[in-house]
Amino acid sequence: MSDCQSCSSSSCGEGGTCPGQAKAAPDRRDVRRFVAVGSGKGGVGKSTTTALLAIAMARRGLRVGILDADVTGPSIPKLLGVRDPLVNTTGGMIPPASPKLDIRVMSVNLLLDDPSKPVVWRGPLIANLLKQFWDEVEWGPLDYLFIDLPPGTADAPLTVMQSLPLDGMVLVTSPQGLAELIVEKACHMARMLEVPLLGVVENMSFVRCPGCGQELDLFGPSHVEKLTKRFGMPLLGRFPVDPTLALLCDSGRVEDYGEAERLEDLASALEASLAGSPVKGAC
Ligand code: ADP
Repeated sequence: MSDCQSCSSSSCGEGGTCPGQAKAAPDRRDVRRFVAVGSGKGGVGKSTTTALLAIAMARRGLRVGILDADVTGPSIPKLLGVRDPLVNTTGGMIPPASPKLDIRVMSVNLLLDDPSKPVVWRGPLIANLLKQFWDEVEWGPLDYLFIDLPPGTADAPLTVMQSLPLDGMVLVTSPQGLAELIVEKACHMARMLEVPLLGVVENMSFVRCPGCGQELDLFGPSHVEKLTKRFGMPLLGRFPVDPTLALLCDSGRVEDYGEAERLEDLASALEASLAGSPVKGAC
């Protein structure tokens, strides 16, 4: 069966994207690494993890940007406390930066008069907007551009995966049930689009007892190590359920998150995965 016969993309032929169509990779411009961050379902902490990856790299003194491709649930500007407006110039839109680490951010929230209003757009419109986030934005020189993908395997993540020269994708999961199925689906999508899988971050992995410091498996035992072994990709990091992190996210101060060692380990694991031979279609 050809890719087109098996394709269920609703935007095929309407200016959207088709997973079966091979396209020439766009120019990387002055960006060294493009890393997409995806998850099979919402609410696992994908945007939080994208922000933490960006912070981990920025703390190393690297130049970092985040393209918020989660158009219907944009949260990156709020997490990072980005308040400056987008600046329009003849050369393109200049993305505002986070207050402390100068992480450049592009998000639909920066284009809306009222960011609290929902974005209720059809697939092709979202696909065009995502293309503009690359084509019409002056990102400047960056070491890393992280792309916060929308959850799932629908049109919008496909658009991003096809219209940017991705170095790979990080999968975010949680220890709740269905993780294996979700990772497997995302893995298949990455294989179809020939995007290397860089590894998995398990979020809300455990909770630390405030009294004795013991790590407790809130959602039962984690299967992430079994999963990563099965799919042959590295476990990049594990983050606890952390009320401080939730508070910092809610107040736009995630740049203040401590856990320096955990973040440095995350940055090292990602760099090692990029430097190695990331998995292409191991599932
Ligand atoms: P997603 O992008 O997967 O939909 P978010 O990153 O927006 O999820 O996170 C959903 C909510 O969970 C947010 O309120 C966030 O602050 C909270 N959250 C995410 N990760 C953690 C964590 N490790 N500990 C506590 N709260 C978290």
